[in-house]
Amino acid sequence: MNDSFLHKGKRRQLIQYLHDKVGIIDQKVLDAMNAVPRHLFIESIFEDFAYEDRAFPIAASQTISHPSTVAEQSELLHVTSGDKVLEIGTGSGYQAAVLVALGAQVYTVERQKDLFDFSSRKLRELNLKPKFQSFGDGFAGLPTFAPFDRVIVTCGAEILPTELLKQLKTGGKMVIPLGKPDEQILYRFTKISEKEFEKEEFGAYKFVPMLNNTHK
Ligand code: SAH
Repeated sequence: MNDSFLHKGKRRQLIQYLHDKVGIIDQKVLDAMNAVPRHLFIESIFEDFAYEDRAFPIAASQTISHPSTVAEQSELLHVTSGDKVLEIGTGSGYQAAVLVALGAQVYTVERQKDLFDFSSRKLRELNLKPKFQSFGDGFAGLPTFAPFDRVIVTCGAEILPTELLKQLKTGGKMVIPLGKPDEQILYRFTKISEKEFEKEEFGAYKFVPMLNNTHK
C-alpha cells in the first residue's frame, strides 16, 4: 500500500480544514478520516487532488463524495464503537472505511457490480473490512441483519425508503439525503418508537441518485 509521508501530510491538512472551515468538531470522526488513505479509493490520475475537498468520478458513472460530506454525514450519524451500521451506496468504499475506522460493524450495499467488486477488494487490501458487503438494491435494506443502530444513505432518494426506517432499532438514527435529482436536503431521522420519528434538517447537497434494482 502506497501511503507516503506526503500523502499523510496532505491528509492532516485536510483534517485541519474539516475542523477549521467545515466545522467538524467530533474528534473521533476527524481521527477516523485521518486514518483512511482516500487517495487509494480513486483513480491514480486524481491522486494529487485526493486531499482537496472535491468529489471525483469513480466506476459506473458514480462519484466518491466530498470529504466534507463524508465528515458531515459521519458526524451526524453519532457512531459509537461497536454500533451496527447499515450503509446504502458503498461506491468506492471510502465512507465504509471511515465507518470501520470509527469502530462500527459495517453492513454495506451497492447496486453497481463494478463498484461492489472494487470496494470489496480495496477494503480487504487495506484491512478495513466491513462485517458484510452486499451486491443488491438498498431500497430493501438488509432484513436478515436488521435491526441496525444506524443507517447512512450516500445517494439521493426521491422518496423516503421506509423499509430502512423499519430496520432501525428504537433510538437508532438514519442520515439520508432526500429530494429531486438536482438537489437534496440532508435529514436525520431518530426512531422514537415503532411509529414515531424525530426529523431534523441539515442543508442542501447534491448526491448521485438512489436507483432501483441492481446493475451488472
Ligand atoms: N459512499 C460512497 C459514495 C458513492 S456514490 C463512497 O464513499 O464512495 C453513491 C453510491 O450509491 C453509488 O455507488 C451508487 O451506485 C449507489 N446506489 C444508488 N442507488 C442504490 C441502491 N438502491 N442500492 C445500493 N446502492 C445504490
